[in-house]
Amino acid sequence: MLISDTIVALSTPPGAGALAVVRLSGPRAVAATQALFSMRRLAEQPGHTLHYGTLREPGSGEILDEVVVALYRAPRSYTREDVVEISGHGSDYVAARIIAALLRQGARLAEAGEFTKRAFLNGALDLAQAEAVADLIAADSALSHQVALQQLRGGFSDELRGLRARLVQFAALLELELDFGEEDVEFADRTGLGQLLAEVRGVVAGLLRSFELGNAIKNGITTVIAGRPNAGKSTLLNALLREERAIVSAIPGTTRDFIEDEVSLDGLRFRFVDTAGLRDNPADEVEAIGVRRTRERIGQAALLLYLFDLSELTPADVQADIAALTASLPQLPVLAVGNKRDLASPAQLAAFADSFAGAYPLALIAAGPRAGLEELQAALLAQVRGAGLAGTGAATIVTNVRHARALEEALGYLDAVRQGLAVGRGTELLAADLRHALAALGSITGEISTDDILTSIFTQFCIGK
Ligand code: GDP
Ligand code: ZN
Repeated sequence: MLISDTIVALSTPPGAGALAVVRLSGPRAVAATQALFSMRRLAEQPGHTLHYGTLREPGSGEILDEVVVALYRAPRSYTREDVVEISGHGSDYVAARIIAALLRQGARLAEAGEFTKRAFLNGALDLAQAEAVADLIAADSALSHQVALQQLRGGFSDELRGLRARLVQFAALLELELDFGEEDVEFADRTGLGQLLAEVRGVVAGLLRSFELGNAIKNGITTVIAGRPNAGKSTLLNALLREERAIVSAIPGTTRDFIEDEVSLDGLRFRFVDTAGLRDNPADEVEAIGVRRTRERIGQAALLLYLFDLSELTPADVQADIAALTASLPQLPVLAVGNKRDLASPAQLAAFADSFAGAYPLALIAAGPRAGLEELQAALLAQVRGAGLAGTGAATIVTNVRHARALEEALGYLDAVRQGLAVGRGTELLAADLRHALAALGSITGEISTDDILTSIFTQFCIGK
């Protein structure tokens, strides 16, 4: 695509600030700036340089501002075009005057996200990376920042490209069979294809699962604390909240409700839900109702924290409890937390070290005396970061709804191919489903894209990005 016009926008937020940055991109970026700028021969300066000077109205000579002009030369710029960033004093009025003057020099106002869209169209970023730019700007916690940055640096894109590359080989072989047009030509080894599909499916499903948490990272992570009566659930919740409150009350002027169930760990918000309802119920029928209610709450959770008394339960008890609680939610991430380690005998502790390894991530604490809480927090964070991805080796967390939908679609087509293989369906149908799966995966990074998708993505950006 040839982009021949030059766009301009205010790239800093509106309102009074120390600086206002007006950004231009396109072939006339330098010439338009030169028309206002006191320093001669801007056009002859190399890229990646800064120039101090005065901006004037070309006609009247009226001084608009004293500014620093940053010059970037195509293709070594954000958009891969000539880019000029004019840093002036942070006044909306002055910035608007500068922009108006630049418009008279042949620039036009940029649409929302248009700078990043150009970066994408010119190959500087793929689509997933471009979306990460928007996430990065919106990031409000350490983890959402980290996830966006990983996506921006292409981690997710590389993973998708790897998956596609492997499928493309098979797709090409299937297309070749179609070209030959004979019934019994098989270039693509069906067994190998089946294995590859199972593998790719696993990775795609893992990525899709990570979306639940990716979403939670943006909106807070609902963590249900479940366990038998007297396990120490309320004590743990209080301990976690007290920790938080100690930090918060150190900041003058902040007051909080005593009944607070949100805790921020390492910049990530957890919403802890204590399933206290079980506590006073006698064992029998009534308890079954309690278990059902707990299950309902677990159904809305992003994470299950199963708490148990180390001095009372065996590893088998714990596994049975967790299995019962997550019967209909096999994919829910679970963290097992052994409490009252101060009461547990060495043999009881050893039992968990020996036979529990690998079943669920495990943290051993004493909520009463508040011991082991740091390990618990580390385990919680590790569980969130790695949730749903165990065994795939993937470290990516999907946070974007569009990506999740595309992964879902890809998964459907991959399953169709697998099913087709199982029942010996013809090459033509296999090839068609595989093509659809590839298209769905490709739509995430923009290898396959339509104008509709582009428009809907980039108009969500703010102007000037
Ligand atoms: P819940 O029914 O699961 O909410 O359990 P509670 O939080 O009410 O605790 C039950 C009892 O266990 C209380 O008497 C707590 O003081 C006690 N408890 C909780 N955590 C610990 C711990 O780490 N060590 C010891 N020794 N007692 C604890
Ligand atoms: Zn309780």
